[in-house]
Amino acid sequence: MKVPAKYQRALCEIVSSGSFPMRSLDIPRVLCDISGVRILWVYHITWLANSACHVWGKQAWDTRDLSRNNWWVALLAFGEGWHNNHHAFEFSARHGLEWWQIDMTWYAVRLLQAIGLATDVKLPTEPYKHRMALDNGNIAT
Ligand SMILES: [Zn+2]
Repeated sequence: MKVPAKYQRALCEIVSSGSFPMRSLDIPRVLCDISGVRILWVYHITWLANSACHVWGKQAWDTRDLSRNNWWVALLAFGEGWHNNHHAFEFSARHGLEWWQIDMTWYAVRLLQAIGLATDVKLPTEPYKHRMALDNGNIAT
C-alpha cells in the first residue's frame, strides 16, 4: 500500500517540526516532556541495554565480545535488547531477527517502509547469518 506523496510530505512535516504534541494537544505527552520523564526513560534504558546485555542473556552469533540477547531488556528498549544480534549485524534495521524476538523499532520501520517513508532498509543475508552463527563451528572468545 502506498500513501500519496502529499500525505507523506504532510506526515514528515508534522513529525520533523517538533511541535507535534502541541498541535494535537497530546496533554500526557506534553506533561511527560516537561517533567523530563521521557528523556530519563530513554537514557536509562539505553544505558541498561549497553550494560545488562553485556552480562545477562544468550549469544547466538560469533561476535567475539560479551554482547548477549536479553528478552526483558528488548521489551523495555524497543528491541535493542537483542544486543548480540545488534553487535553481529550492526547495519541491520532489524534487531529481533527471529519471529519471536519482539522488536518494536523494527515494526515501526516496517510501517514506515509500507507507507513509502523508509527505503533501502538493510537486513543481514542468510549466507552472512550462517557465517556468523555460533552453532556453525565458530568459537566465541
Ligand atoms: Zn553493546
